[in-house]
Amino acid sequence: MHQVGGRLRVLILGGTTEASALMRALAADPRFHPILSLAGRTIAPVLPEGDHRIGGFGGVDGLVGYLQQAAIDLLIDATHPFAARMTAHAAAAVRCQPIPLLRIERAPWQPVPGDRWIEVATMTAAAEALGPPRRRVLLTIGQQELAPFRAAPWHDYVIRCVDPPAASLTPPGAVVITARGPFEAEGERALLQSLGIERLVTKNSGGIATAAKLTAARALGIPVIMVRRPAVPVLPVVTSVAEALAWLEAVWRDPHAASARRGV
Ligand code: NAP
Repeated sequence: MHQVGGRLRVLILGGTTEASALMRALAADPRFHPILSLAGRTIAPVLPEGDHRIGGFGGVDGLVGYLQQAAIDLLIDATHPFAARMTAHAAAAVRCQPIPLLRIERAPWQPVPGDRWIEVATMTAAAEALGPPRRRVLLTIGQQELAPFRAAPWHDYVIRCVDPPAASLTPPGAVVITARGPFEAEGERALLQSLGIERLVTKNSGGIATAAKLTAARALGIPVIMVRRPAVPVLPVVTSVAEALAWLEAVWRDPHAASARRGV
């Protein structure tokens, strides 16, 4: 791994607030050289200071090639809980290029008294769960997985996402609102009320930046169709940036013990 006095090169697979926060923390730490990688899904991403790269690697082989070419010492998977393919690729890549890998996975949201959640496993099931009666539905599921709702075109959809979705994926007649979190409960409540929303569809992303819609839905008694997270490979995992920094600190102090620290 790194030379004495050298910097550990850390590839952070991003797209989340945790990835950006870790990037900022490591960019200010002379022991590490972080590089943030984004899929390129957002047209104008908010990029923290420091090195970054944007776009797919080209599968597992491409990622392995990048880890070698960029002399990466440590890999942090801080991708979105629904970016399961990238997580699987990271797990497979470190089997070919054995470097320590840590995943940051924020805790999922849990229902609390007053919530009216309908939990489903897939976006297709979410569209089916809307049922036959015509309803006014807010979709806060990003722009990539809208197609299943085209199979239930009798609902009135409002889609909120960071960038406008492709017309080919959008249910006919849907209204699109572009907005970037974080969102506050009061604004979310006003939005749900002013649009007359009867169902909210969301992925169980967890975290605080987009949790206010759940508070607002609870206050208004609106049922939430909550899509569960996809399965990802079992990896060493932490739930916060602070824990990831502690793991990095431990690896920096004793790089040879890194494999023993897997699973902390
Ligand atoms: P994915 O299905 O896990 O990844 C698909 C491909 O995108 C990967 O195989 C990889 O391409 C590339 N990729 C993903 N993350 C990358 C990263 N950090 N750096 C470089 N390449 C990356 O993930 P997704 O298609 O981005 O999203 C799947 C779900 O996650 C959706 O529900 C989406 O809304 C949600 N999500 C993703 C992000 C994000 O930043 N990616 C943010 C918020 C929500 P190669 O195989 O070519 O390497």
